Amino acid sequence: MEFVTQHYPCSLCNSTTTKPVLNKGGFNIVQCSQCNFVYVSPRIKNDQLESIYQHSYFKNKDYGYVGYEQEKILRVKNFERWLKDAAPFMPTGTAYHALDIGCAAGYCLEIMNAKGWQSEGLELDQEMCIDLNKAGKKVHHIAIEKFKSNIKYQVITLFDVIEHITALDVAFKQLSNLVAADGVIIMVTPNYNSLQRKLFGKKWFQYKPIEHIQYFTKQTLEVFANRNGLQIAHHNSCGQYADVQFLLNRLSYYKLSFLSKIFTKIFHLLNLKQHLFYADTGSLFVVLKKREAK
Ligand SMILES: [Zn+2]
Repeated sequence: MEFVTQHYPCSLCNSTTTKPVLNKGGFNIVQCSQCNFVYVSPRIKNDQLESIYQHSYFKNKDYGYVGYEQEKILRVKNFERWLKDAAPFMPTGTAYHALDIGCAAGYCLEIMNAKGWQSEGLELDQEMCIDLNKAGKKVHHIAIEKFKSNIKYQVITLFDVIEHITALDVAFKQLSNLVAADGVIIMVTPNYNSLQRKLFGKKWFQYKPIEHIQYFTKQTLEVFANRNGLQIAHHNSCGQYADVQFLLNRLSYYKLSFLSKIFTKIFHLLNLKQHLFYADTGSLFVVLKKREAK
């Protein structure tokens, strides 16, 4: 696909003055000189960006996910863990309306439905939407910025989604309007301030400038939340479940194949091939609530 790129100002302060962070695959990741927000500019034009989330996104090797459905077990465990971590901040009772934004293959919706919640998903991949609707799930083929609903949701989830969104203030305002007065918005997103980013530098695996166009820290995320009627109720560093193969793939991504060979031997000796690990990847886990009136 031929990409058409365009310069965009900083989503946080609207400045266009930047300093370079790195260039990857022809895209510049930059840091705003005014407010330090990190983003991609120039990046793929907004109207073209939506089209990359068509069905090939989940099977593509250049961007998006490789073998998304094969990683179902791992993803389900991630979603279960994140929902459990946010549970103390959810309203009492279980008669929830839930909205999973960027629901992909619908694994999180399955978990929500199993809890007895009435769940809905938003997904930009039209084929995925059709399949999920056929399977009886309520999924809308629309971006969060344009979604309309009369329902107020007790739980809204954006797992590895907010870093893809172009109009951040529009999205945060939407979240603020859609969440119930006692509801929660749960987000997981790469953390630009993480130890992992600092350790791996330019090789940080979250630098994916085609689709990861915004790089948050807890502080920058809080600015977007606060000015759109939300506040951070809880945050911590989080990670994801990995199996041996996932770990070995990651090591070879970092060109650490000597470690990969050593680990393969160890895993074989310890008979750990089926074992699942929880690896803290330094991602930012936040629970947002409506901002209390002062
Ligand atoms: Zn800025």
